[in-house]
Amino acid sequence: MSYYDKYIKYKDFDFKGFFDKITDEDVLNSINKERLNEIDFLTLLSHKAENYLEIMARKSMNLTIQHFGKVIFLYTPLYLANYCINQCLYCGFNVTNKITRKKLEMDEVEKEAKIISDSGLRHILILTGESREHTPVDYIARCIQVLKKYFTSITIEIYPLDEHEYKELIMAGVDGLTIYQEVYNEDIYKNLHLSGPKRNYRYRLDAPERACQASMRSVNIGALLGLDHWRRESFFTGLHGNYLQNKYLDTEIGISLPRIRPHKGEFQPEFYVEDKHLVQIILALRLYMPRTGITLSTRERAELRDNLIGLGITKMSAGSSTEVGGHTLDEKSEGQFDISDQRSVDEIKNIIYKKGFQPVFKDWQAI
Ligand code: SF4
Repeated sequence: MSYYDKYIKYKDFDFKGFFDKITDEDVLNSINKERLNEIDFLTLLSHKAENYLEIMARKSMNLTIQHFGKVIFLYTPLYLANYCINQCLYCGFNVTNKITRKKLEMDEVEKEAKIISDSGLRHILILTGESREHTPVDYIARCIQVLKKYFTSITIEIYPLDEHEYKELIMAGVDGLTIYQEVYNEDIYKNLHLSGPKRNYRYRLDAPERACQASMRSVNIGALLGLDHWRRESFFTGLHGNYLQNKYLDTEIGISLPRIRPHKGEFQPEFYVEDKHLVQIILALRLYMPRTGITLSTRERAELRDNLIGLGITKMSAGSSTEVGGHTLDEKSEGQFDISDQRSVDEIKNIIYKKGFQPVFKDWQAI
């Protein structure tokens, strides 16, 4: 059994017909349940549920505090390389884009690590494009050896790996994986990933499960919002998270909600996700999966991020750059996409305090 079986169950589901029939009573029943099933979750993603966001928000706030306390975990991304052999239409690193390609040497990784750790951050997310030639697994393992001196938690957002390769990186010091399916709709997926190994939908879809089987401590999934209708995509994301959470009890499952941002290339997203709908997704997810971490990155505006503290978000990036060596190198390269919240780690830390929450830099350390 793979999550694909679950996806197939709903692939041709009549979402519109379902949403059209939802009544006020259905929404209130789902909100008031102690444990929501997948149909309740879908009910809370409906048009009708938009009239009940305030009630959902109150329950979401209580559940978040009950399961996580009044804290926001902070991390920052570190781009190791932008070489990529895939042609993902929505990404600035896509193989057909004429950008300066770069990969950090070990001394450069160390410089980035020093600067980032001086800001107080202890959780780093390292990223590469997909190029086994330029950034093979052993290169990533060598970077981890350097980063371990500065950070207590190292998570990866790289190309999907086999289970034994995830094990190798766990042995090297990795404790978390972030991997987005980008778009769960299999037909749209094929149209957006024109060439390269990423065209293999199933291999990517099963990557979070392979990481769980390799005993990864935390696995974070998501869809890039804007590539298909958000009501369907967030439903498939929640189902995926719930599938993994119920099957792999020792792995902490998290969900990110990245909305597509401007980047180099012509691609324009067809399915714009409004702020109020992003809020609806957060609330519906929290009510469906009360103990799942939810991440909101610096893709989002400062004001929106500030307002969402307390509503269901548990993790935020801070002081981000999407350029290779973006924290230290003088010679700048193109970023993967534009950052919206450009504030420093200190500024974000202060806002979190102002909201009555505690910024957390370190919540885990390998023995
Ligand atoms: S999304 Fe990832 S795999 Fe696709 S082009 Fe960008 S870096 Fe490469």
